Amino acid sequence: MGFDTEAIHGGQIPDPATSAIITPIFQTSTYVQEGLGKHKGYEYARTQNPTRAAAEKNVCILEGGTAAYAFSSGMAAIDTVLKLLKAGDHVICSDNTYGGTFRLFRFVLERFGLQFTFVDTSNLTAVQAAVRETTRMIYVETPTNPVMSLTDLRAAAKTSRRAKATLVVDNTFMSPYFQRPLALGADIVVHSTTKFLNGHSDSVGGMVVLKHAEDAERVKFLQNAVGAILSPFDSWLLLRGTKTLGVRMRQHDFNGRKIAAFLARHPGVKKVYYPGLKTHPQFALAKRQMSGFGSMISFETGSLGRARKVLEGTKLFSLAESLGGVESLISHPATMTHASVPREERLRLGISDGLVRLSVGLENVEDLVEDLKTALGRI
Ligand SMILES: *Cc1c(COP(=O)(O)O)cnc(C)c1O
Repeated sequence: MGFDTEAIHGGQIPDPATSAIITPIFQTSTYVQEGLGKHKGYEYARTQNPTRAAAEKNVCILEGGTAAYAFSSGMAAIDTVLKLLKAGDHVICSDNTYGGTFRLFRFVLERFGLQFTFVDTSNLTAVQAAVRETTRMIYVETPTNPVMSLTDLRAAAKTSRRAKATLVVDNTFMSPYFQRPLALGADIVVHSTTKFLNGHSDSVGGMVVLKHAEDAERVKFLQNAVGAILSPFDSWLLLRGTKTLGVRMRQHDFNGRKIAAFLARHPGVKKVYYPGLKTHPQFALAKRQMSGFGSMISFETGSLGRARKVLEGTKLFSLAESLGGVESLISHPATMTHASVPREERLRLGISDGLVRLSVGLENVEDLVEDLKTALGRI
């Protein structure tokens, strides 16, 4: 069946008790048992919840996985995936991941004996060179935030298999509508559902989708043992979000392409980072492994002063962190999302003081172009 059909019906059955078409919010902490050891598969709400189970099944189908588990945030999901490992294990990680992922790996998990090497995973030779005897996981984000660098997932999967490591892909930026890492050879997909999957800037959550049954068993165990579960209400919001994922992503992509083309032509813009532009160094790879380019765009204005004029000059684009919602957002990576990255490292990654990032929403694109035109006119 097609993506939109699966998004609406995948994992969704009318409520057995009432035939309500929408999965109810099962806001309960426990379930009454008929007798000793006799129950309907639900004992305690950290362990099982029907609303959460419906959301997990839905996203699992969209990503083409074996099982999926929902968490209270993207970070909780990523933390749980890393708990598949043990002290002494080595992880190769993209050097330009989401800032919170870097913080978790470097400043929390290293203290528990996991070892990390951060490399530019768009360079598979560098990944191969970082492999050690103890390498158990390769952790990749593609495209990266905010400079939209891609990692060839098929090639990364080959390297990972050779090293007998697990390939984990953070698919938050593309969503399963535009990129299916499991089909390209990845073993695990993680999401911040806070972004495109929920899509309405009103919930924080995370999801882990597994290809292998052994990993699924262990993540299910960890979800219950550690307990960072997605709440029934957030699960319900997520389900409401994924129903329109296809429609939203098509419009995000349509608007994204128009805005990128507008920025590329504007004399006040020095450089545009968007995988859908022919000038993107990995345009061919983008077309090969993604079925669209999404709506995350960064552009270089030349200096902090010029960036500030743009950032404080838009009306429709709101100055805020986060991304993937219906409303357009504008942000300044150097002082917002990447403020904790040392300046030198930041500049090496291309995150200059003049860089501006957009999450293009679903407003009429002519209005968004007009808004940017006015703001850029202030430079
Ligand atoms: C936001 C984000 C995360 C973290 O998710 P939270 O829901 O904020 O915990 C992880 N990876 C990427 C790519 C993100 O954009």
